[in-house]
Amino acid sequence: MLENSPPAPARVLIVGGGTAGWMTAAWLAHVWAAHGTRVTLIESDTIGIVGVGEGSTPKMRRFFQALGIADHAWMPQCNATYKCGIRFPHWSTRAGYESYYHPFFTQSDNDSVRAFHHNVSLRQQNVDVTANPDWFFLSNWVAKKRCAPLPDPRSGYAVDYAYHFDARLIGEFLRTWATARGVTHIVDTVTSVQQHENGDIAGVSTPKNGVLSADYFIDCTGFANVLAGKTLGVPFLSYRPWLFNDRAVALPTPLEDPNSLPSETVSGALKYGWAWKIPLTNRYGNGYVYASDFLDEAAAERELRAHLKLPDENVAARHLKMRVGRLARTWERNCVAIGLAQGFIEPLEATALMLVQDTIEQFIAAWAAPGEIQDQRAGFNQKVNLIYDSIRDYIFMHYKLNSRDDTPYWVAARENAHASDSVRQVLAIWDEGGDLLAEIRRQQGQMAYSPTSWFCILAGMGRFPRKPRRATGKHQAVDPNAARKQCLELLRYFPDHRLSVNALAHGASA
Ligand SMILES: Cc1cc2nc3c(=O)[nH]c(=O)nc-3n(C[C@H](O)[C@H](O)[C@H](O)COP(=O)(O)OP(=O)(O)OC[C@H]3O[C@@H](n4cnc5c(N)ncnc54)[C@H](O)[C@@H]3O)c2cc1C
Repeated sequence: MLENSPPAPARVLIVGGGTAGWMTAAWLAHVWAAHGTRVTLIESDTIGIVGVGEGSTPKMRRFFQALGIADHAWMPQCNATYKCGIRFPHWSTRAGYESYYHPFFTQSDNDSVRAFHHNVSLRQQNVDVTANPDWFFLSNWVAKKRCAPLPDPRSGYAVDYAYHFDARLIGEFLRTWATARGVTHIVDTVTSVQQHENGDIAGVSTPKNGVLSADYFIDCTGFANVLAGKTLGVPFLSYRPWLFNDRAVALPTPLEDPNSLPSETVSGALKYGWAWKIPLTNRYGNGYVYASDFLDEAAAERELRAHLKLPDENVAARHLKMRVGRLARTWERNCVAIGLAQGFIEPLEATALMLVQDTIEQFIAAWAAPGEIQDQRAGFNQKVNLIYDSIRDYIFMHYKLNSRDDTPYWVAARENAHASDSVRQVLAIWDEGGDLLAEIRRQQGQMAYSPTSWFCILAGMGRFPRKPRRATGKHQAVDPNAARKQCLELLRYFPDHRLSVNALAHGASA
């Protein structure tokens, strides 16, 4: 902290012990313990956690790195696996684009990015060349071959990666880690909230522990939103006009082969939404995210069971309601909402825990800035809101670009005119074959996703002029088979995924 920055709060009370609560507790204890901050977390034993949320982005890797927790120290305890990216089958019906893969990028991908962009720009000029990102990115082949994204250092190659994990076990792991570093853990239910005369939160009342007071409060109460929403009355802004899905049904299934483990999430389109398939070391997590305006619970469960070939009623399904949108202000008075209490964008790109991390980072940065802490609030809220809305835009694009006609849901999603100005601009420039890279760079700072992610989704869904003309020698397209061959040659540096996670369980470090 700078000399003229405010002192860290003396007492912080986190209400809620889901993944968001424990990530926040671990991080604050790590960063603020040296400043004497006392961190307490209270969670209810009668109100459960949401218990889903098994996919992440590479930001999660930075989370564990920042806390000094190696992969082998936590992954085996959380049945965790490596994630190279996300595959999106059945969103598009266009030939050659029925499925595409959204990889995590690294510097090592620069050549592939150039080759991909080159073919994309030819295809935009209506030349018949391959422009599906799958052909160009090594990460796609690493995932396809069920390898771990941990190349032999001798390859000189680096790939970024994320994780899949059991949502309950990761909370338990972080609880043990955080309490060992001084976080006080209380199991009780908040029944009412006290406020000072000026409206700040003073404390929370509980049946077993009386009133618990603090200087700062973190609302991690999930969709219940006890502090920021119900007590401070911060308005909730729904994303319903952009994103129709408001329900999910989840079901576990066994792995097909205990000796082989996928290293990707599959997010495949179904009739009224999409289904995730997430490999853990001991099972798959599956779920169907859908819109209740188009489908009821029973029909959704039937469709998911049929999709999974799992008619067995003995495996219970979990039905979940989703509040999709965000608070108008994440930080209000002496309270910051983090996790589902703060907002939720449907889990298509597994961004929720990334937003948790972003919010904690911004909050800590605000205390490190010079001046009065209340002067940091507006800027903090603006940054968080921008990240939320820009992720919403990227998720919206999946629906806008779909080319399915099998149900009114997909037609309505495609015809949804409720696009932000940013999305409209991206689509307009793409469709006229303009300089999208320049446009995305122009919008930089307002976009959560990289230019290559935008290119991947637009090209991966096959949004190109129809009836392309044959490529000739003058077009100098990149031969997709050559690009693939180059990737496949590099695969010899990547270990088998199952063997890699087994080795972690025996203490090997990644
Ligand atoms: C269908 C679905 C799929 C998802 N998939 C992903 C994914 O792939 N990747 C991803 O990053 N995220 C995903 N998420 C989001 C992810 O599950 C959450 O962001 C994450 O679990 C954090 O939840 P949370 O801690 O905010 O809330 P919760 O897990 O709901 O925890 C709330 C906590 O608040 C406590 N609480 C509530 N009221 C009180 C009270 N009055 N007194 C005391 N305690 C109280 C509860 O006891 C609980 O401990 C998904 C969410 C859904 C719905």
